[in-house]
Amino acid sequence: MDLQTEISHLFSAQQKDWEQLRDGVRQLDNMREREFTWGGDYHVKLQFNPARMVSTGAATSKEAIEKRPCFLCEGNRPARQKGIPFREKYIILCNPYPILRNHLTIPLHSHVPQRIRKKTGDMLILAEQLPDYVVFYNGPKCGASAPDHFHLQAGLKCPLLTQADNELRSCLQIESESKDEAQELFEDVYQYLHHLQPAETEPMMNVIAFTEGNKYKLHIFPRKAHRPGHYYEKGEKQLLISPGALDMAGLMISVREEDFEKISKQDIEDIYTQVSMAVI
Ligand SMILES: [Zn+2]
Repeated sequence: MDLQTEISHLFSAQQKDWEQLRDGVRQLDNMREREFTWGGDYHVKLQFNPARMVSTGAATSKEAIEKRPCFLCEGNRPARQKGIPFREKYIILCNPYPILRNHLTIPLHSHVPQRIRKKTGDMLILAEQLPDYVVFYNGPKCGASAPDHFHLQAGLKCPLLTQADNELRSCLQIESESKDEAQELFEDVYQYLHHLQPAETEPMMNVIAFTEGNKYKLHIFPRKAHRPGHYYEKGEKQLLISPGALDMAGLMISVREEDFEKISKQDIEDIYTQVSMAVI
């Protein structure tokens, strides 16, 4: 059985046995969305997803992380959550707070920090085995709610998520028929971004990997801020938006109804300007 089929079976079984996942998927069926377009060329969809407060509102400071039990470590995961082993070091799990159809969380077994550099190979292998999916990575300061435990995510592919560079935000694109070459090109991009942000343990970025035809593709979104200024405002001016890979691609998540209703095209442009790092 191929991995995509195994995952479909996992979703069916888990939705029967695990109420939290069943509720999460049901909420996804009734999700409200607003759509914004720029000259018909590129789009942003705003999704009202209150369950994502767990991630958007996550305290990711070193102190807060050290105090909480890690929800990706095996001993702390929900008893009903089952998974599929991948490459002997990962486990593929259904995400009970989905943004996408078949939203997966794929943690390493070991509790090691979120760092992408040596893991792009795994990302590309996963993208190869899941041709209907996008596989994505949120840097430790770029949307990951568990910056201390390495994990990837994946979900069913749609055109919105594979939008390349546009005027709203930067996106560096790698494509190759060879996995090794894609990985080498990623290393070049990594070095370049590291040179721009030498003080960061890892250059700030989100990455989306997928395959199209016989090509491996990586979309890299360089970042200059974890959250936009709107996040830290008080009262009316506040917008609780904490962008990760999907937001950078064009699917922005709003966890509060008031933000979902009031956010304007101008706000979206402003959010991207604040968190995306312009590169030549
Ligand atoms: Zn952990």
